Amino acid sequence: MSRLKPRRNGQSAPTQIVMLGTGTPAPHPERSGPATAIVVNGTSYLIDFGPGVIRRAQAAYEKGIAAMGCGAINLRTAFLTHLHMDHTAGYPDLILTPWIMGRRKPLEVFGPIGLKAMTKHVLQAWRVDIENRVNGPDKLPPAGSRVNVHEIAPGLVYEDRNIRVTAFPVSHGELRNAFGFRFETPDRTIVISGDTAPTQTTEKHCEGCDVLIHEAYSQDTYAKVLSSQISYVFDRTGPAREPSQTRSGGSLSPRQCRRRAEVAQPGTGSARRDAAHLLGQGRHRPRSGYFLNRSV
Ligand SMILES: [Zn+2]
Repeated sequence: MSRLKPRRNGQSAPTQIVMLGTGTPAPHPERSGPATAIVVNGTSYLIDFGPGVIRRAQAAYEKGIAAMGCGAINLRTAFLTHLHMDHTAGYPDLILTPWIMGRRKPLEVFGPIGLKAMTKHVLQAWRVDIENRVNGPDKLPPAGSRVNVHEIAPGLVYEDRNIRVTAFPVSHGELRNAFGFRFETPDRTIVISGDTAPTQTTEKHCEGCDVLIHEAYSQDTYAKVLSSQISYVFDRTGPAREPSQTRSGGSLSPRQCRRRAEVAQPGTGSARRDAAHLLGQGRHRPRSGYFLNRSV
């Protein structure tokens, strides 16, 4: 029996998805590292924390996503699909910046085996700064710099009054302990694939979902992928449609890097393609859809 309840006024609780980062390890100037926020009843849940995550959260706040909190101080619960650097390079930023900006409670992070060790080393790496801010003139309360790490196994990993989160294993090459997540809220079911090749488990967890956010390749590479490799989930998540776009930065060769530098105009280098506010606003309310997110 679901513990998820609609709001008292009988209206479905609005769920919003904020694509904070849709990039790859390549330092594309318009795409931050993988990071997605699901906002339910004004509470934010973060999935992955690639480079740039807190600046994109602040940008989302300034665009009206109040649930982030100024300085991302309301990002208190996070889920990690896997330990690759493009999904985790924003971890010190996630731990420390909102604390400095005013978060007073520990961060709760759910992710694969190895996350405890990563957390311990991050905190150790920034020990001098943390001690200075606690014991120096700032006198910051130490609780806000702490992290409660929950190393997860497949199955139900988190539940509160807004959301139920189920982790499932995905296939990411030789990397072990890579997960996708299914998020069930009072009005939406959202699946985030993480980085994965097609798997039956992913297909199973997409059943009945409203939105699938899936790893994808660049448009050029996508054109070479066999249709059988991409139709496995679309058959379950909604009418088969050709994707209108990829959310892909692709990989950049040195030549492409130079070319971008040559054509860049002042003021156009911001990550404006990220922080798209996908649900909860008029025309962006698909009952069934998918978004492609390239990450490796
Ligand atoms: Zn990866």
